[in-house]
Amino acid sequence: AETALYAAKRMGGRRHAFFRPELAEQARRHLALDGDLRAALALKQFRLHYQPKVSLIDFSLEGFEALLRWEAVGKGMIPPGEFIPVAEETGFIVPLGDWVLDEACRQMREWLDAGMAPVPVAVNISPKHLRNRSAEDFRRIIDRHDLPPGLIELEITEGAVMQDLDHALTVLAALKAMGIRVAVDDFGTGHSSLSYLKRLPVTTLKIDRSFINGVPQEREDAGIVSTIIAMADMLGLHVVAEGVEKTEQANFLRHHNCNQVQGWLTGRPMPADAASGLLKERLREPA
Ligand code: C2E
Ligand code: MG
Ligand code: MG
Ligand code: MG
Repeated sequence: AETALYAAKRMGGRRHAFFRPELAEQARRHLALDGDLRAALALKQFRLHYQPKVSLIDFSLEGFEALLRWEAVGKGMIPPGEFIPVAEETGFIVPLGDWVLDEACRQMREWLDAGMAPVPVAVNISPKHLRNRSAEDFRRIIDRHDLPPGLIELEITEGAVMQDLDHALTVLAALKAMGIRVAVDDFGTGHSSLSYLKRLPVTTLKIDRSFINGVPQEREDAGIVSTIIAMADMLGLHVVAEGVEKTEQANFLRHHNCNQVQGWLTGRPMPADAASGLLKERLREPA
């Protein structure tokens, strides 16, 4: 849930306008959580789960998105929505984000060494992580595992780009030159304009789940989704629909020539060994 602190932050300039004791209490809780997160990294309590991205033509596996999980002792699996915002606020997201990329690359190397098909893995890069890293920094992590850069995709939000447009444009252009794929995540929910989308050196648009939700029955959502797909096609971008839960949604997307889907209909996020199982099945499929 969105906390008062973030709500205050979103109000931008007005955030220091008044003091409320709840905010001080919140700051203390965030500091404590930040300490827990740092300890969790040292204690190796973070895991990556992998959610399939599949072709809309035959639902065959075409990639995975790596999603972060925190296996806290006694508290079970904590979803990223409960700690990423705090990590973003404190800056811990930078070492944590480096760990995520490194771990996804390590897993990919393990899969390749085991003879699995080279299926690209996407990693989420937060706004602060992007602002604090160069394309070479990302490249160095990928190189550590001796991977072809084309097997790694970075997912960034429109917000991450807009926070520091000059830096983002520099990093994205360098990543593109290195052959590292970049997707715009949660597309349609940010404040980007079409004029800057044209300038963004990205490979993929991921249509946000909130639009997919209303498809096909809500006229506005259906219009927005089909328009994003048509626009992506015109800009030469790959397009992925997030949060596809129903067959009717997949049918609508296929009809409108969307490239890929990712959602509960075609696969929930799963631990690495279950993802390995899918890769092995793929190996057994006739070519
Ligand atoms: P996201 O990158 O947009 O990831 C997609 C989210 O939608 C995931 O939630 C996924 O489990 C969920 N999802 C996928 N298909 C469906 C569906 O059909 N229905 C519904 N209701 N949900 C679906 P998750 O894993 O809880 O992650 C939430 C967000 O946390 C991610 O949104 C991303 O912004 C952030 N996140 C996750 N892992 C990382 C990470 O390693 N680094 C950073 N910086 N952010 C991360
Ligand atoms: Mg994502
Ligand atoms: Mg998304
Ligand atoms: Mg989303």
